[in-house]
Amino acid sequence: MAKKGAREIVGMVCSVCKSQNYVTTRNKVNMENVKLQIQKYCKKCRKNTEHKETAKLK
Ligand SMILES: [Zn+2]
Repeated sequence: MAKKGAREIVGMVCSVCKSQNYVTTRNKVNMENVKLQIQKYCKKCRKNTEHKETAKLK
């Protein structure tokens, strides 16, 4: 059974064009003050860019 509350879904937005390209989950308990930052491929920019988490999903 899945526990509720510990994990939350966050969107990953491109820091260049601000488009939301990915969705991921993060663990609030372990990552309370850590902002995710990942190099990922952006379709709009057509290259790898830095993606940052955003609290609200579109
Ligand atoms: Zn982009």
